Amino acid sequence: MYKENLFPFLEETDPEIMETMSSELARQQDQLEMIASENFASKAVLAALSNPMQNKYAEGYPGKRYYGGCKFVDQAEELARERLKKLFGAEHANVQPHSGTQANITAYLAFLKPGAKIMGMSLSHGGHLSHGHPVNFSGMFFDVVHYEVDRKTRMLDYDAIEKQVLKEKPELFVAGASAYSRTWDFERLRAVCDRVGAILMVDIAHIAGLIAAGVHPSPVPYADVVTSTTHKTLRGPRGGFIVCPEKYAKSIDKLNFPGTQGGPFMHAIAAKAVCFKEAMSDEFGEYQRQVIANAKRLASVFMEAGFEVVSGGTDNHLFLLDLSNRELTGKAAERALDRAGVTVNKNTVPFDEKSPFVTSGIRIGTPALTTRGMKEREMDEIGSLMIRVLDNIEDENVIAGVKEAVADIAKRFPLYG
Ligand SMILES: *Cc1c(COP(=O)(O)O)cnc(C)c1O
Repeated sequence: MYKENLFPFLEETDPEIMETMSSELARQQDQLEMIASENFASKAVLAALSNPMQNKYAEGYPGKRYYGGCKFVDQAEELARERLKKLFGAEHANVQPHSGTQANITAYLAFLKPGAKIMGMSLSHGGHLSHGHPVNFSGMFFDVVHYEVDRKTRMLDYDAIEKQVLKEKPELFVAGASAYSRTWDFERLRAVCDRVGAILMVDIAHIAGLIAAGVHPSPVPYADVVTSTTHKTLRGPRGGFIVCPEKYAKSIDKLNFPGTQGGPFMHAIAAKAVCFKEAMSDEFGEYQRQVIANAKRLASVFMEAGFEVVSGGTDNHLFLLDLSNRELTGKAAERALDRAGVTVNKNTVPFDEKSPFVTSGIRIGTPALTTRGMKEREMDEIGSLMIRVLDNIEDENVIAGVKEAVADIAKRFPLYG
């Protein structure tokens, strides 16, 4: 049954929800997706997500389940774990976290008691909510100190971080970000953590695909634990994973189940296995190199037009435009671009004077456009269209003109075509 197209069954049962799905597919097809955390999973990954393993309870781990009938889901989870270990050169892998945030909950609790001191990158400087923000569990359960980027270079200053670590003596240091465009020095962070005996946790949610392809250094040789999502640059199903040295395998597994989750999503784990297999291919390496080439090219289009790119460029799949010298807010820019068919998100820039609801910046990423096959030529084209919008955000004629050009580009690079 599941080998056939499932859509006719859904159409018959629930035409209303079918309608929303068709509209969403059309939206993804017709606009230019430049949200740095998004991507388009392959048809194989989408197919794996829609499989009968979703019906199966499988609390526990392969070979040690609390339910019968787990022979085949065990095989799927074993494939996912082995592929993930191979992909990142890791000793142990847990593929059960439902999301990146869930992976982080597990990782913190495997090493810390509530109340322990952690140190993570400030959200407004590019970090993530789950790195100690007060509205998130991580900020509620732990005593948090934040590090920031340097005021002048807007890059991480490892000497300053070392000083802060020596002063604060956190039990755990979280590296990783959602809006940082520069290469991380994990080896240096290991040395810094060793000076105070801190656990080094690295959250590679954004850059997992780059690391898998070898175009960003890997934290695996240095970190005590590495957490990630599977749906950003890694281009898999929505979900998370954890890799760590063998010596921490037991506590990570125990904290994920029964510690913080119930039954694993076995259909999602099957889809993760497909994603990890795809990520081992030469095409995937080529794709990640193009993602970076596209981001560099697009950033330079903006800089050549006099826009300020935070830190003066990018080493990875994203960059931040700082609009504060243009009397333009991130919120207004996001809206105007959206009306022209270009999807980005407003984002605070380091030392932003505006609130997180307004912001002075937008975050721009190339993973999704690159999946559609776009290259430097299209970055030139798209960059100048975006600049036309940002220079004329009140001009409906300009926006309508750009929207047409955007639709034309989208047509040239069909999604799931
Ligand atoms: C996206 C992201 C996460 C959270 O992932 P979810 O799957 O949305 O929970 C965690 N950490 C970082 C650095 C991220 O960018």
